[in-house]
Amino acid sequence: MLTIGILNLQGAVSEHKDITEKAIEKMGIIAQTKNVRYADDLKKCDGLIISGGESTVIGKILFERDLDKIIKDKKIPIFGTCAGMVLLAKKTNYEQPILGIMDIEVVRNSFGRQKDSFETELNILGYKYPGVFIRAPTLKNYDKTKKDIKVLCEVNNTIVAIQQGPNLAMSFHPELTNDTRLHEYFIKEVKKCVE
Ligand code: GLN
Repeated sequence: MLTIGILNLQGAVSEHKDITEKAIEKMGIIAQTKNVRYADDLKKCDGLIISGGESTVIGKILFERDLDKIIKDKKIPIFGTCAGMVLLAKKTNYEQPILGIMDIEVVRNSFGRQKDSFETELNILGYKYPGVFIRAPTLKNYDKTKKDIKVLCEVNNTIVAIQQGPNLAMSFHPELTNDTRLHEYFIKEVKKCVE
């Protein structure tokens, strides 16, 4: 059975759980979600979703609980949205604990403050998708020499979704839509890793 962990330290956790479960049901595969708070929870996971929220808070607890070590030792595929994208990056414009498992550099809050939140239609993976942006980071740079990096989506020449190996970083909130396709895409990537 495939287990998709939902990191539950802070942020939009229950929304990710609900949409991941909908995605699993739609795909008709044998899989489950797992609430991840401590190292023992994470050890049972084949993939992990890191939600939006406050990347400084999530990062601090991740490191305090040694979750970073398990992610790296087990090479657990990660789907990071918004704050999750920040945590996946090698570099941000703040001093903060980050995982650094994707060769990307991000700028936090780069579309402005909470009141500047917006929705826009995205073109991603060949389809249209509702993009919800809340104090979203953007990608400043990525390592173009890495063959396993793929840009998935841009808004006004700014990259807002990128993949490296099975890891996905998106600056918007797919968990705040009813569209399960990006979660299905991640689950497929996780499945490939365990097969
Ligand atoms: N600005 C937040 C951060 O960098 C992310 C905002 C969000 O996840 N909605 O932590």
